[in-house]
Amino acid sequence: GTLPDRLPGLLAERALRHPQAPALRENGRDIGYGELWQTVRETAAQLAALGVRPGDRVAVVGENALAQVCLVFAAGLCDAWIVCVNARLAPREVDGILDHCSARVAFYTDDVSPEAAAHGARHGAAHVAGPALVGNWLAGPLNHAARPEPVYADGARQCAALLYTSGTTGRPKGVMLSHRSLLYVAAVSATLRRLVPGDRACGVLPLSHVYGLASVLLGTLHAGACLHLVPRFTPAGLLGMLRNDGITILQGVPALYARLLDAAGGPVASTLRFIYAGGSPLTPALKARVEAAFGLPLHNGYGMTETAPTICQTNLDAPRADTSVGQPIPGVDTRIAGGAGEGELWVRGPNVMLGYYRDAAQTAAVLAPDGWLSTGDVARRAADGALFIVGRTRELIVRSGFNVYPLEVETLLNAHPRVAQAAVVGRAAPGGNGDEEVIAFVEPRGAADGALPDALAGWLAGQLAPYKVPARVVVLEALPAGATGKVLKAALRDIAAALDDGPVSRA
Ligand code: ATP
Ligand code: MG
Repeated sequence: GTLPDRLPGLLAERALRHPQAPALRENGRDIGYGELWQTVRETAAQLAALGVRPGDRVAVVGENALAQVCLVFAAGLCDAWIVCVNARLAPREVDGILDHCSARVAFYTDDVSPEAAAHGARHGAAHVAGPALVGNWLAGPLNHAARPEPVYADGARQCAALLYTSGTTGRPKGVMLSHRSLLYVAAVSATLRRLVPGDRACGVLPLSHVYGLASVLLGTLHAGACLHLVPRFTPAGLLGMLRNDGITILQGVPALYARLLDAAGGPVASTLRFIYAGGSPLTPALKARVEAAFGLPLHNGYGMTETAPTICQTNLDAPRADTSVGQPIPGVDTRIAGGAGEGELWVRGPNVMLGYYRDAAQTAAVLAPDGWLSTGDVARRAADGALFIVGRTRELIVRSGFNVYPLEVETLLNAHPRVAQAAVVGRAAPGGNGDEEVIAFVEPRGAADGALPDALAGWLAGQLAPYKVPARVVVLEALPAGATGKVLKAALRDIAAALDDGPVSRA
């Protein structure tokens, strides 16, 4: 069918035709499409009364909740941009984002995000009351200096959401996504994942990340299905939900599956019919464990904030034994730089961002005038057209003239029984001749002893070419992670650079 032009169009028609059908479930209560639409309209009226104008940015710092969903659609009704900010970010990071986007107004919940509430308190936020934003929601401050951006009639030009990247490789970038990009990915996700009315999807991924917002929330609503809002992931809570709440679809990230399996310790009882992973690399070991525990194939998909997010997905009719990220979604072109073999992946299609907000230089660096976006990821295409992600261009380590992608070394380390999580970075090799060396950081599973680094280096040496074997294996109690759970490589590169050149675990 045809796509609506604006996000609220996802709700309006269904609210008329099927007002009682459940759209969301929060705290054990189903919220019908009719009720949701009514609440969205009341929220939009509140935004206007607060002083929100077309072209403004409206920020929401919170965990998954009805009020957050309402703000997404209400901002759309006001022709404002929604800025979804992860409630787990440090106050300094929240400040940085609110400053960068100059939000007219920001909403917080003080019960689940003390960091954000502290920020609000410092800036003079006030409680908002009203039919829509019930509970402990705070609004403010109203930024009178914020200047509205132009508003476009065309949903392909009009920005709907400003979402910040995970900050894996550096400072998070503000990605402007149009109504059309988000609606396109919602429709494709719902179709390729075969969501139907009656499905109950698990809403455990944060709505502040594009995966949770576009693929999960908007995809579920596009299908007329119901999304169960989970404010905060705990393995025990999620296991109970999968067993008892009639959930049919789980979309998660690899780290979520790993924690779920560690807590379950065996087969997972559930009403699921479809499970999906995306957002970071899936290792063969984890895929095998998940499939054994759930008794279902684990599908895989690849994307990024800049592509709203989906680029590729595996085919539901052809579950794979490998960890390919599948084929490009319909309507999206991909090409691998340098022609055949391995190279940087480029993408073009309706899912591609409008640009980075207030950063013309970074935008020009990745988005060509003809619409092709450089992903910064290195990929390989198999004979059947399926793509494999090899690593990130910015993480490439050049060791003795040979290329090393950290992902290959990390994948091996992650399969080791004594490793909970591994991350590999490069650093300048001693000697200053421009050569780099490979440094591995490992978070141990169970107790670590002084012999673990050498044991892991020796184990890797049996499976890798010598130039790929880490010069150092460093055991850390916990790897530094961002709000979405991704390891912050930039922080590890700093640690690696500061390591002294004492005895190495392996030359
Ligand atoms: P930043 O851009 O701020 O450094 P980030 O790239 O991690 O952070 P996201 O947009 O959340 O921020 O993540 C997109 C990236 O995640 C992709 O570019 C890719 O490197 C990785 N990724 C996503 N899905 C997969 C997957 N299925 N397999 C391998 N890598 C993936
Ligand atoms: Mg990125």
